Amino acid sequence: MKLICIGRNYAQHISELKNEKPSEPVIFLKPDTAILLKKQPFFIPDFSDEVHHEVEVLVKINRVGKHIDSKFAHKYYDQIGLGIDFTARDLQKKLKDKGLPWEKSKAFDGSAVVGKWVSKSSFDDLSNLPFSLHKNNTIVQSSSTKDMLWTIDEIIAYVSQFFTLKIGDVIFTGTPSGVSRVAA
Ligand code: ZN
Repeated sequence: MKLICIGRNYAQHISELKNEKPSEPVIFLKPDTAILLKKQPFFIPDFSDEVHHEVEVLVKINRVGKHIDSKFAHKYYDQIGLGIDFTARDLQKKLKDKGLPWEKSKAFDGSAVVGKWVSKSSFDDLSNLPFSLHKNNTIVQSSSTKDMLWTIDEIIAYVSQFFTLKIGDVIFTGTPSGVSRVAA
């Protein structure tokens, strides 16, 4: 299985990182080895002094698909969840500045936290789902799927033009503003 991640999907997070608003979604992948195993602690890797949390809505693919039309995209998932895309921001900045791929800063072991899956039928409106991340009992990220630049269905349509989606693949749909450094 693969983890497909969307970058720059919330306007406020784009301005916080001083990125340009893209005309298409930014996509990157994490390998399955990036998944933090259940009940295991997350360790800050030696190669970074600035690991950021990015809380994201996750979508689990349940059918094989390619070139999926956004109006049929809802048939390709029935579970959603929350996760964290841990990012070595200092390393990512260096790689970006050199025009190099981001993988070392985004796809390292343990960098993908995948939370509990919930049936999408338990929500009335997937396009207006509030979610938040608490860090030591303080809310640090708080947003709603209504603030996404591209909806879940649009993301599935876009991504499936490039990558065949397979059962069990997970899409990280991008983070809202409020990312910050985590401490040991
Ligand atoms: Zn992210």
